[in-house]
Amino acid sequence: MKKLIASLATAATFAVLASSAAAQTYPDKTITMIVPFAAGGPTDTVTRLVAESMSKDLGQQVIVENVGGAGGTLGAARVAEADPDGYTLLLHHIGMATSATLYRKLAYDTLNAFDYVGLVTEVPMTIVTRKDFEPTDLKSLIDYVKANKDKVTLANAGIGAASHLCGMMFMNAIQTQFVTVPYKGTGPAMTDLLGGQVDIMCDQTTNTTKQIQGGTIKAYAVTSPARLDVLSNVPTTEEAGLPGFQVGIWHGVYAPKGTPPEVLDKLSKSLQKALKDENVIARFAELGTKPSPEADATPAALKAKLESEVARWKPVIEAAGQYAD
Ligand code: ASP
Repeated sequence: MKKLIASLATAATFAVLASSAAAQTYPDKTITMIVPFAAGGPTDTVTRLVAESMSKDLGQQVIVENVGGAGGTLGAARVAEADPDGYTLLLHHIGMATSATLYRKLAYDTLNAFDYVGLVTEVPMTIVTRKDFEPTDLKSLIDYVKANKDKVTLANAGIGAASHLCGMMFMNAIQTQFVTVPYKGTGPAMTDLLGGQVDIMCDQTTNTTKQIQGGTIKAYAVTSPARLDVLSNVPTTEEAGLPGFQVGIWHGVYAPKGTPPEVLDKLSKSLQKALKDENVIARFAELGTKPSPEADATPAALKAKLESEVARWKPVIEAAGQYAD
């Protein structure tokens, strides 16, 4: 028995030494950052900008892999199950918090399956429609939707997505339920909105700004407290007649639980540098957002944010009583 305990202790010591040695040389191969939505959408856009900058800083490629489906929960599950060695990361948004209550069964335990790298950005949303949709302002859009609730369609990226949350908030605010069409991300949903196959979407400015500016879709409101410089003629929800309808889509980088602290620290420092990269700042600004402050790009800040957001949305989702199985 004594022998067994001694050899287990030796094995454990070796494991700790090996992991701290690996942490010292980290990263010595390609890192994969999972986006839990389709390519070409808002999370993909943000992730690619951050990953490109972190690649330069870390001296290793940070490649982006899209694992879309089930409102971001499939991609999150993939990372929860990955080796905690710093080579598989997740960039996810507010859906990480809402899914914890929205899904009766989730393949991972949201608050215990991940380690934290830091917050990335908070992106406003826009209420948009296909270009040839009749209503001209938010009030007339609401009237139109109420009068045509059986034929109007709202695109989203599945239960747990930001577009799902915003769409639910919209339906609840106007007390009208209408048909939703789920996609693996709002990248493909935007393609259908441009093609006129769906009518409405509530999506992040990181996906809608260029289209609104180009006049290929119509914008009715932004969900931020103030208008955005890049969309200065789009009113806020408050101005347009939906006071209190505000939501910001915060994003964070996660690692599987058990990732060595030294690795998390390296990643967090690299994320902080990426958020100060002039190219990242400029591209974020063009898309109606800005990087999180350095103090928030830390494991402690993301942990606190996720915990408070799970607690914040739980009663809201429970009151709405809409769950995914
Ligand atoms: N962020 C998702 C995407 O990149 C969309 C969403 O959450 O609504 O497609």
